Amino acid sequence: MNQELKDKINNTRDVLLKRIDDGLDKSTVLRSPELKELFALISTLADDQKAEFGQAVNQLRQELDQATKDSDTSKHNLVPIDITAPFAINNGEQIKPSLLPLEYGSIHPLMSELERIVNIFSTMGFTIVESREIDDDWHMFESLNFPEGHPARDDYDTFMTVQTDKDRKPFIAPAHTSTMQNRILNSQRSTLVEGLAPIAAVIPGRVFRNEDVDPRHEHTFYQLEGVYVDRNISIGNLIATLKSFLESYFQRSLQIKTQPFYFPFTEPSLEYAMSCPFCSGKGCRICSHSGWIELIGCGMIHPNVLKAASINSDEYQGFAWGMGIERLVMLKQGIEDIRYFESGKLEFLRQFSVGGNKE
Ligand SMILES: [Zn+2]
Repeated sequence: MNQELKDKINNTRDVLLKRIDDGLDKSTVLRSPELKELFALISTLADDQKAEFGQAVNQLRQELDQATKDSDTSKHNLVPIDITAPFAINNGEQIKPSLLPLEYGSIHPLMSELERIVNIFSTMGFTIVESREIDDDWHMFESLNFPEGHPARDDYDTFMTVQTDKDRKPFIAPAHTSTMQNRILNSQRSTLVEGLAPIAAVIPGRVFRNEDVDPRHEHTFYQLEGVYVDRNISIGNLIATLKSFLESYFQRSLQIKTQPFYFPFTEPSLEYAMSCPFCSGKGCRICSHSGWIELIGCGMIHPNVLKAASINSDEYQGFAWGMGIERLVMLKQGIEDIRYFESGKLEFLRQFSVGGNKE
């Protein structure tokens, strides 16, 4: 066996023994890419080297197997600790820290309202799926009918990483929660096709935009995406579903108005407005005296988006929407500046605490 092969074995031994020391378990070590690489190398060698090298690799495998066993036994001597303990109980110290009074803490208004919002959709039969805070170009654009060079990509200018994915494209901080649509359609396709249930999911998540920040615009905000797919679905189902939600959230009956809009991933696309819940459509400061508040972008899912998830668009139709959570909460709670949410301003947050005056 030549020196190069000996070095390979020695290096792999060093690396993996170190990892076993750090606590890596047996199956991870024995299936590690480093060890697999050595096994793969055997078949590529000339006959005179094959036998000797193969034996050495097998010997290394046994050695590592034994090392994981030794490491396991030594771990059994460790004293268990309670990592959830709120103070240094693990060191035998019994002095309890003084805790802040309850009224100093509160759930952030966005989170408590988000919980209310997803609860409404949950009672309507939607499952809740979490979004991601980093995604790839395919889920952000391609799967949603924004091919490369599509001008509408410019409307979703956001942050990207220097690191790239397998297609050599940067990872993206999602500019909308629609990045999850393809995943939902794929993961729930079989229950749809087997006729067990329609695809019905809402996806709350944090999204990011390259935005000029002002009282109505933030670079980081929350959206709630909704997706529904079944047979014989029309735009009437979309309008009624959102109306039910809004009436439940604002606790009053509302008038609805839609007007044409453009999104690459829906056709037709709509801008969805409700009658102002504060003046019942008569006109006030909150609705800029128009009587209407536009707050949801929505539409019928584009056949290309269904196709990207292998769903037959002749047989199934669906609708999708995206709404800004802050906008809903601002309307409901009478909050004037979107920047308060991420500001950490205590005088703002304390209004929502247990002893505050908003809840
Ligand atoms: Zn109004």
